[in-house]
Amino acid sequence: MNNIINALLKNKYTTDDIIYLLSLKDENKLETLFQKSNKICEENFGKNVYLRGIIEFSNYCRKNCSYCGIRAENKKLLRYRIDEQNIIKLGINAYKDGFHTIVLQAGEDIYYDNKLLHIIKEIKKNVDIAVTISIGERDFEFYKKMKNAGADRFLLRIETTDKKLFKALHPDDNLNYRKKCLYNLKKLGYEVGTGIMVGLPGQTIKSIAEDIIFFKKFDADMVGVGPFIPHPDTPLFNTNQGSFKLTLKVIAITRLLLKNTNIPATTAMGTIHPKGREMALKAGANVIMPNYTPAKFRPLYKLYDNKICIFENAENCKICTNQIAERAGKKIVIRKGSRKAVSVK
Ligand code: SAH
Ligand code: SF4
Repeated sequence: MNNIINALLKNKYTTDDIIYLLSLKDENKLETLFQKSNKICEENFGKNVYLRGIIEFSNYCRKNCSYCGIRAENKKLLRYRIDEQNIIKLGINAYKDGFHTIVLQAGEDIYYDNKLLHIIKEIKKNVDIAVTISIGERDFEFYKKMKNAGADRFLLRIETTDKKLFKALHPDDNLNYRKKCLYNLKKLGYEVGTGIMVGLPGQTIKSIAEDIIFFKKFDADMVGVGPFIPHPDTPLFNTNQGSFKLTLKVIAITRLLLKNTNIPATTAMGTIHPKGREMALKAGANVIMPNYTPAKFRPLYKLYDNKICIFENAENCKICTNQIAERAGKKIVIRKGSRKAVSVK
């Protein structure tokens, strides 16, 4: 077990080493794994936890990913778009509320494409905040325009690197194109985040091991991992949710391999386990992403069932987030928290 952990730390691992760690059941061994990943996290970030305020500005989507509650074919959902001026205001207010990073996230809603350039410019002109974009796949030219407008980071989960599984889940998408988008973003100088869902129907331990190897090979600046949670109005409504323990293991192993990458304790972790985010912070995660979407829209941005924090206001989110960090023995710090400028204080 210790040999395997050391092999990962030295970047001399095999796929079987990762499969071994993903398959661990023994509680003592798991504890050793999580202690080690927490130690590597603290060597890189101290006890600091970074915040990213997430603004879910539209639930329109042109795609039909079969796991997702806001997929185009879900006709039961009331759709919303936050208007340009209000998104700008939210970005500026987020800074005043102590967020030095915001994530502008939406379905693949091309309605905004030109508007986004203005939104990014205005936010960056008014406040010194890192702007992360998470709007799915676009061509190189549009990613370039957003970068030139001032976007700093981009989140695009690969979801799974398993070709067959990717195809089965994405009727209107293609794994090679998604990978190409990630490499384009990198080429353009974004800090790039990717990630997967754990427990997708048909996903194997071996394919998760390969996902983790992909994170390493791509050298992701951020890795977001959460359990798959079925949504009642999707084709995957009667499947099982992903395992909490397995997701924790993915976080820990990713930390051992990528060391100083940003890893969030995701909302989906908090959704399937009452101590989910706290436990993730103790197993290698160093980021929390509180919801900064106006309360009236939150229930409509339901990617999965039972999503938490839907009825909270910004103040409650702040209190709750501080408590999560404290219970994990960490502290929230107000900074951008770029991967390339890690400083432990
Ligand atoms: N449209 C953009 C961003 C919004 S979706 C995109 O697809 O990149 C953000 C993330 O939500 C997805 O990457 C996916 O990993 C996650 N997600 C969607 N449906 C989910 C579900 N049922 N359970 C858990 N996570 C889900
Ligand atoms: Fe749209 Fe993203 Fe959901 Fe896919 S995961 S349906 S692209 S919002």
